[in-house]
Amino acid sequence: MPKDQLKGIQDEYDVVVIGSGLAGLTCANILGRMGRRVLILEHHYQLGGMATWFKRKRGHIFDISLHGFPHGMVKSCKRYWNDDIASRIEPIRGIRFDNPQFSFETTYDRKDFTRILMERFQQPKERVEDFFDKARSFNFYDDDGTTTGQFLERCFPGRNDVHHLLMEPIAYANGSTLADPALTFGIVFSNFMSKGVYIFKGGTDLMIGLMKKELIENGVDIRIYSDVQQVQLAGGKVAGVVCNGRPIKCKSVVSNANLKVTIQHLIGEEHFAPEFVESARRVRLSSSSCQVYMGLKAGESFEYLGDLFFTSTLDHFDSVALCAKDVTSRTFSCYYPDTRPGSGRYSIVSSTNANWEDWATLSEDAYEAEKAKLIEETILALERYLPDIRGKLDWIEAATPGTFSRYTKTMQGATFGTKFEGLGVSKGIPEQVPGMWHAGSVGIIMSGWLGTINYGVIVSNEVDSYLSRNKAV
Ligand SMILES: Cc1cc2nc3c(=O)[nH]c(=O)nc-3n(C[C@H](O)[C@H](O)[C@H](O)COP(=O)(O)OP(=O)(O)OC[C@H]3O[C@@H](n4cnc5c(N)ncnc54)[C@H](O)[C@@H]3O)c2cc1C
Repeated sequence: MPKDQLKGIQDEYDVVVIGSGLAGLTCANILGRMGRRVLILEHHYQLGGMATWFKRKRGHIFDISLHGFPHGMVKSCKRYWNDDIASRIEPIRGIRFDNPQFSFETTYDRKDFTRILMERFQQPKERVEDFFDKARSFNFYDDDGTTTGQFLERCFPGRNDVHHLLMEPIAYANGSTLADPALTFGIVFSNFMSKGVYIFKGGTDLMIGLMKKELIENGVDIRIYSDVQQVQLAGGKVAGVVCNGRPIKCKSVVSNANLKVTIQHLIGEEHFAPEFVESARRVRLSSSSCQVYMGLKAGESFEYLGDLFFTSTLDHFDSVALCAKDVTSRTFSCYYPDTRPGSGRYSIVSSTNANWEDWATLSEDAYEAEKAKLIEETILALERYLPDIRGKLDWIEAATPGTFSRYTKTMQGATFGTKFEGLGVSKGIPEQVPGMWHAGSVGIIMSGWLGTINYGVIVSNEVDSYLSRNKAV
């Protein structure tokens, strides 16, 4: 690490963005385009936050969160990034399910799901259409207390197999459960159903590289290895940040760090009204994740298994079991050579939802033993579908909630930020501390690649009007 990461920065910025997750990068890019003086400070050596990748010897490269997102990414990337990035977003070929209740492949869109619900699950057309229409009609202001579980039960009474089908991909897509508000399910599910699931061709490294290029073209200053310890206030308003122990003056701050970390540590609860502090303390974090990364030797391959393969050994859908350390449910993301055209390489990433406390409390030895067990059980599960896979692998390693927390400084390795109540708290920050915003995974609907990019856009516009209103600040 070079000594002075902050060498050459300006004396003052219009905006400092703390963190380079997709929300932070997008917010910074738009403000840079608007001519604002922007500085991104990222504690890690790589940009992207959870949208990241890592390389290993013998030519392996693994993506952490490049599994799938809705078609809306094309529009968002076109508008708020550029055509080059948007043009590399392509639909995946197929999603497979295998569990004791059902087994098939789908394109995961409304047309195919209507067919599947009618033919395989014997649901009448009107009921299926009614379900899709209701799911699509939900919006942010609709929270009447109905949970996703209640909504699914109303639409398909007594049909746990149907609930399983509808819920499992969404639980993987944003960590939500049957107890979360129905509107969060309706919005995210309908986003996917409009046109299916998409992926960025070329890998996360290419996408983040293209984003960095545009940020630099738009005049945004970027510093890595730059850990922000504090947001500084003067007269109750944002006046700067302290980064790597050094004060930096700015008129506004956008924190892409975890919501609770932003309020409790970066700003400090003493700067908020007591009732706001209480509501922030009550915000629940989303669950975390474990992953097993498996790289095939150069020249080895495996037969098509779907791009995303949802497997479970349970004969019913169960939100609690989905996160348990005794894994019953795994999603295999299969990467074929066309993920990174020209690479010729195959890899598989297995993801399971996980609870922070199941891993955080383990001793060092127990942690290593649990990690080894996770890897071995994952290979055994995969051998059911690819019996000769073990001999083809030459790189295997695992990440746990602690890994995600270490690299992105997120509280408790929360993969998708906070539960629904986090959105109101995040949006309320500028009313409490003028000049201060939060942009990043919150409220279930503002998480995932698309959700966070869109939240970054919303916040950039608010920051811009604040700066215009406070020209003399
Ligand atoms: C295993 C896994 C699989 C996923 N799969 C998918 C998927 O298939 N599709 C999808 O759409 N989404 C997926 N996601 C979720 C998605 O990646 C995230 O929701 C999204 O990338 C989060 O973006 P963000 O802007 O909220 O911030 P983050 O990615 O959390 O980034 C925050 C950044 O802030 C930095 N930071 C924090 N504190 C400080 C500080 N004090 N100083 C400086 N820098 C700081 C961090 O280092 C980090 O870079 C997945 C996530 C995980 C972990």
